[in-house]
Amino acid sequence: MNDSFKPLPGSENPKANKAASTPADQIAAPSSAAPVPVRKPRRFAFFIALQSIIGTSIIVATLFTLFTPRNIISGQMFTSIILALQSTPEVNINPTPIQKSSLPRIGIVAGHFGNDSGSVCKDGLTEASVNMTIATIVRQNLLRAGFQVDLLQEFDPNLNSYQALALISIHNDSCDYINNQATGFKVAAAQSTHYPEKTNRLAACLISRYASITKLPFHANTITKDMSQYHAFDEINPSTPAVIIETGFLNLDRQILTEHPDLVAQGVTAGLLCFTNNESIPTKEAPIQ
Ligand SMILES: [Zn+2]
Repeated sequence: MNDSFKPLPGSENPKANKAASTPADQIAAPSSAAPVPVRKPRRFAFFIALQSIIGTSIIVATLFTLFTPRNIISGQMFTSIILALQSTPEVNINPTPIQKSSLPRIGIVAGHFGNDSGSVCKDGLTEASVNMTIATIVRQNLLRAGFQVDLLQEFDPNLNSYQALALISIHNDSCDYINNQATGFKVAAAQSTHYPEKTNRLAACLISRYASITKLPFHANTITKDMSQYHAFDEINPSTPAVIIETGFLNLDRQILTEHPDLVAQGVTAGLLCFTNNESIPTKEAPIQ
């Protein structure tokens, strides 16, 4: 921009031009080189006026170029890009970002995913890894059945006001030997729901189908507060029917859980489809609680 202050060729004050030839004056050239009209011969008046007009025009044009809406938008885009880059880790943490689709939606929380390992066996087998294997197969089954499926972390931000046809959280019980009765599965339904009958039906469907497919016994009386007051139940939209299942005990049910996760997942999937398809369930497996 400093170039616009330089006098046009032929209009320079010879004195100023000479002074500008020393290095010290070159630094101050823009102001010292500025022509003083009273010292100019009249024949140069036109060039001085022309110089002023061109100089001013260049400055104004430059300023307009800097502040056009396009540049402002570019600035906003740049800010957006920076924010997007900064938020990238969050996006990576999220396994399946919520996407818009007309397909019916089901959410699966892979227990402890993204938070901790859950129960840990002496040989290093973690509950979180067993939960994830089962959750992944259930997800694949549901995708094949025509649903959109969100595979969620234990404390997934998407659980906040989560809306879906159903939400299930998959966990497993302790790897310690407790007693010979510590085998089988547990199911608890969300109580803070707008539709308790729907939610209880989801639980009943799950109990019915999971028991018949896996042949594992249902533990009705050992459901803990960790299950009945499961944190996600209070986070999701109250219109979303939600259940938590402990698909087995890592100790006595280890074989089916680790060697036949497909069968375990099939039991969970059939329970969910029983609910979404409004299939009939035996009356003896009445809704729990
Ligand atoms: Zn767990």
